[in-house]
Amino acid sequence: MTVDKIPFHVPSISREDVEAVASTLSSGWLTTGRVARSFEEEFAIAVGAREAIAVNSCTAALHLALAAMGIGEGDEVIIPTMTFAATAEIVIHLGAQPVLVDVCPDSLLIDPDAVAKAISPRTRAIIPVHYGGRAADMDRLKEIATSSGLRIVEDAAHAFPTEYAGKSVGAIGDVTCFSFYATKTITTAEGGMITSEDPELNDVMRSLSLHGLSADAWNRHSPSAPWDYKIVRAGYKYNMPDTVAALGLSQLSRAFEMRDQRRAIAERYDVRFRDVPEIAPLAAGDADAHSWHLYVVRLQVGSMGMSRNDVITHLSSEGIGTSVHYRPLHMHPYYEGRFAGTEAFPIAAAAFDDIVSLPIFPGMTEEMVDRVASVLVEVATRHRG
Ligand SMILES: *Cc1c(COP(=O)(O)O)cnc(C)c1O
Repeated sequence: MTVDKIPFHVPSISREDVEAVASTLSSGWLTTGRVARSFEEEFAIAVGAREAIAVNSCTAALHLALAAMGIGEGDEVIIPTMTFAATAEIVIHLGAQPVLVDVCPDSLLIDPDAVAKAISPRTRAIIPVHYGGRAADMDRLKEIATSSGLRIVEDAAHAFPTEYAGKSVGAIGDVTCFSFYATKTITTAEGGMITSEDPELNDVMRSLSLHGLSADAWNRHSPSAPWDYKIVRAGYKYNMPDTVAALGLSQLSRAFEMRDQRRAIAERYDVRFRDVPEIAPLAAGDADAHSWHLYVVRLQVGSMGMSRNDVITHLSSEGIGTSVHYRPLHMHPYYEGRFAGTEAFPIAAAAFDDIVSLPIFPGMTEEMVDRVASVLVEVATRHRG
């Protein structure tokens, strides 16, 4: 087989996935019900959490977490500048202020020292992002949060399955939010999950996820449920339908196997780049604890005499898809100069010039990995003459 086109990502959809969705479609029950409940139970078991709440995106999960904590007008929430739009916008939707901080140079994970410096009397919470699928320094962050009375909401959109100090992400902080977006480690096309050990927060988040109905009314999705329900707060419409949960349940059964496949790809890339100083993979920590959602390299663009964008254009002309995670938030027009501390983040800004995310997905063959590596090594070492 020749590998002409290697996309950045191809979702892994099995015959069982298709059958699970099809059988839910013909079951007579389409929206949130028995299947969504099973997905929650199985997911909670997979990460070792007390409870899981299925929602329709990670963005919704993050929004509910902060809303349930009562975060709003006048409050500040600390987030890394190296993240996706969702992590910041949900803070703004609640009337609070995102306070951006810089990241660590070797991992691009939120820098605990920068977090400690950014705390003000208005700070209520920290949202660490487990960038690429490696857990942030949760021990330090928990220490800082405890000593300043802050909550931690983990943006674990990249981090299933990820471990930290022998525990699964999802059973560590106050609330953890996962994504099942099309490109994530398991997918429901669109979807998310919240895990938390705090029963009171769980009740509020579950209620908020479905119009603020009372917790018992949430069970009305069963044929024998009474017609009556009580609205106890102004909620949102963030519940996950059974048609979507069916895909999630089916994907969940392959989550660890798919992680192993991504890890093998990462290890193969590592070997190819080991003696190429122009290509530096991010520090991965313990490879077995990493979800390997992303495989990010930093390029020595200075010595290569070409820009990161030139490299991406070259790979693209060879049929190889890549991505960049991320243009830091403080370098987007909306955020530039708008919020406290959005001036300069030297580590994230420098990284933005030289990072590139390479293809890494379960269906990638060794031949495809080798082709990506060869094309990248060739272009990165061309300057040597
Ligand atoms: C994908 C992603 C999100 C949002 O997830 P959705 O399920 O698409 O809402 C949030 N944060 C990070 C870091 C992400 O990569």
